[in-house]
Amino acid sequence: MTGITGQLPCPPENSDAITRMIAYSKKAGEGSAAARKHLEWIKKSYSRYDADFQFAGTRLKRSASVTDNDAALLNGMYGRTSLVDAKSMRKGAKLKSCPYCGITNGITLDHYLPQNAADFPHLSAYPMNLVPSCSDCQQEKGTLHPNKEIRHILFIKRATPDRARAVRASLGQGRAKGVVLNAQRVIHPYIDRGIHPSSIRMRFSIDPLAGPHSPRLSYGDRKLTRDAVLFLNHLRKLAIESRAEGVIQTLWGNLPLILRELRTPPDSDSVSDEIRRLCVTYKHNCGEASVPALFFKALSGCAECIDILCRKLREPEPTLSRVRVR
Ligand SMILES: [Zn+2]
Repeated sequence: MTGITGQLPCPPENSDAITRMIAYSKKAGEGSAAARKHLEWIKKSYSRYDADFQFAGTRLKRSASVTDNDAALLNGMYGRTSLVDAKSMRKGAKLKSCPYCGITNGITLDHYLPQNAADFPHLSAYPMNLVPSCSDCQQEKGTLHPNKEIRHILFIKRATPDRARAVRASLGQGRAKGVVLNAQRVIHPYIDRGIHPSSIRMRFSIDPLAGPHSPRLSYGDRKLTRDAVLFLNHLRKLAIESRAEGVIQTLWGNLPLILRELRTPPDSDSVSDEIRRLCVTYKHNCGEASVPALFFKALSGCAECIDILCRKLREPEPTLSRVRVR
């Protein structure tokens, strides 16, 4: 699954990081010496990552025994093709659009936890920490820790009665004792499996001339569930709504032309049907929760937009301007 869902499967061929790391440590070279030296520590860190990644700042912090030089060498391993194969990761994940934002764009690899020497150099070549991502998300996220507010009350792992009450109050709902709470960070596309694509919705404002604009994305119903809070923070941190604006403007601008190509009759039933078909196509091509699929889904239920499109289809077909010869 791709799009803004957090349900990207980690490519199986890249999941055995320890085996690769061991193989790497047996090769000659500076970086391999650092890998050899810290393999045990790396193993321990890796096994914690899946369960505790949200507490990485406190649980996976750089070992005191790692010197700056070691950190730089471990970090440097990321660039070596023997450890990381971006192409196969992308293919293995069957990626159709960026898993962070749901926008189809140039895909590179993002380090979920920053690889810089001060933070997580030992995770710079770890597949679970490498997320295929569009360059815009990479840029928005930068080298920042995905969870800057790690000391926030929401991040406590086991709630004492007092803290549980405070957390319940801040989330506005009841919560079982001892549940992991961490809703301020960016979604981790391999690990956050609570975010279901069918629960993501797009709404927008409508202008008779400009058409739909200012997309707003929401998750689930109005209840402030943990997943909904996480989703909203994710949108805010990666500025996804403002970036989606350009995508929906392009799709909307091209739509009358596409409908004419498809010889869609200018009545609301025919236009709605065609938009529903386009929604299915975009779901298939870009992912269920991709911005284009969400846009067409929202459009298919918007009578005002369908009306605007019908009016545009009734206008005379634009022709190439001819030079009048006198
Ligand atoms: Zn993205």
